[in-house]
Formats: sequence, C-alpha cells, structure tokens
Amino acid sequence: MDWFSMLEKFINEHASAGIQKERIIQRDEIIQHLRDEHNLLKEKNTLLNEKNEILQRELKELSIPENFIKYRGVLFSKLPDGRIDECAYCPTCKTPMYSIQEATNFECSRCRFVASFTGEELPQILRDNLK
Ligand SMILES: [Zn+2]
Repeated sequence: MDWFSMLEKFINEHASAGIQKERIIQRDEIIQHLRDEHNLLKEKNTLLNEKNEILQRELKELSIPENFIKYRGVLFSKLPDGRIDECAYCPTCKTPMYSIQEATNFECSRCRFVASFTGEELPQILRDNLK
C-alpha cells in the first residue's frame, strides 16, 4: 500500500466513523422524540378514555330506555299489554321512586331526585294523560 492509499484509507475510516457517530446521535434523538411522543399520546389516551366514560355515563342517564316514556319529568314503564305501570321511575337512575303514604312527592332513594307530583296524584296523572 502506497502512502497515498494509506492516507485515503485513513481519511475514509475517520470520516465514516464520524458519520456513524453522527447517525447514532440522530438515531438516539429520534428514539427519544418517539418515546416522548408515545408518553404524551398515552396520557392523552388516558384522559380521553376517562372523558369517554363520563360521557357514556351521562348519555345513559339522559337516554330513555325503549320500554319507558317520559312524562312530568319522570319515567313510566310501558307494560307488554300496552298499559302503563303505576310506578314512577327516576329519570336519571331508572329505578322506582317512592312517595311516603302517597302524601309526599315521589323521590328517588338513590340520587334524591324529587318529582313534581305526589303519590296521591299519580292515579289521575296516569288516567288523564298516559292511558
Ligand atoms: Zn335517581
């Protein structure tokens, strides 16, 4: 190997080592950027899943089940024969509400929602408006 070839080989090896080092640094920067982006996206995904759960719950609370009708702010269940069940259901919890000795306004024992009518008024509401 002549002197010129040795010099050329030295320059090539030195330059390629420099290029390789530069590429390794670039690769590490890209990996770090992707890790940061991955962590950011994981956080966003967690927040979106939490928000989705809240919205699904709210939607479920606001929706009226197929066999119910909403009247006077509460739900009434439609029986298979077409009649209306003589029970008021909470519009949020979809559970039966109670009226103490038919004198108090219907109230939900779960969320404390209070209807605008008493147990005593219920038969007339059903008879005049829902049948
Ligand atoms: Zn309720």
